[in-house]
Amino acid sequence: MRIAFVGLGIMGGPMAANLVKAGHEVKAYNRSKGKEVPGAKAAATPAEAARDADVVWICVADTKAVEQVLFGKDGVEGSLRPGMIVVDSSTILPSASKEFAERIRAKGADLVDAPITGSKIGAEQGTLLFIVGGRAESVEKVKPLFAVMGKKYIHVGEQGLGEAAKIGMNLMIALIFEGFAEGLTLTSKLGVPREKLVELIQASMIRSGVTDYKAPFVLNKDYSPNFPLRLMHKDIHIMLDAAETAGVRLPGLEKVEEVYEASVAEGWKDLDYAATIGVIEKWAGIK
Ligand code: NAP
Repeated sequence: MRIAFVGLGIMGGPMAANLVKAGHEVKAYNRSKGKEVPGAKAAATPAEAARDADVVWICVADTKAVEQVLFGKDGVEGSLRPGMIVVDSSTILPSASKEFAERIRAKGADLVDAPITGSKIGAEQGTLLFIVGGRAESVEKVKPLFAVMGKKYIHVGEQGLGEAAKIGMNLMIALIFEGFAEGLTLTSKLGVPREKLVELIQASMIRSGVTDYKAPFVLNKDYSPNFPLRLMHKDIHIMLDAAETAGVRLPGLEKVEEVYEASVAEGWKDLDYAATIGVIEKWAGIK
């Protein structure tokens, strides 16, 4: 297939590379230079990448960035053709995704929201989970591409519901990690070696994908970004926005947001979100 890939960050770069490896013709665009994907043609604008493409895949930071690459100057919009499918793997506000879909459908193309989970390692290894919202016939057309970049896709329902499910899942990740960070900090202050607590967690029902992925990084104090703190912070704001509109109270998340605010104030926004444990440790007087 001829695929335009827009956004070659931590996730988009390896996703596009996996499409190239699978033999697809990829034209890739990234806002700043220096993130080229070997084997993909570099495009100067999103519109140029999308010209003649069958599918446009987007993986950029946030709602504003998606709007920019779709409808901004030299955006994908200028190259939309009837039958073209745009797939958005960025995590954005579900209501904005629906609005973007309407604008794309007005041109005879379609938008499928397919946010992802699996982080950097999942993107590199092609084992992502795609959380999909969209018309069944459009999802069917891009199904082979989910198989190249991921281990599974789940079609949640109509367009926008992929984003809705994704932010709920990230809410759980934020709270699970916060529980891990607070439990680890309290027990180490009480004298339990951190490695022993992790051994206990991994041998008990507390074990989860989050502790499997993050515990080794936390034990090594390696906060190089897999899922940057600034992006989880952005997602927390999306969750709080969506919750307010839906009339849902999220008291746990509101508290966790304070930890993210404090982490950003420490200057850690570009570190992994696991660095938020540093705030709990600092408040506990642990260096
Ligand atoms: P990233 O490394 O920060 O990359 C962000 C990408 O968006 C870069 O290509 C960046 O371009 C581009 N971008 C940002 N603002 C833009 C704008 N206004 N116009 C055009 N391009 C813009 O982020 P990532 O980790 O790949 O995440 C991408 C998306 O996937 C996000 O929505 C994130 O929440 C979601 N996600 C991430 C993970 C993870 O573990 N990392 C997991 C699941 C979902 P530049 O290179 O020019 O800055």
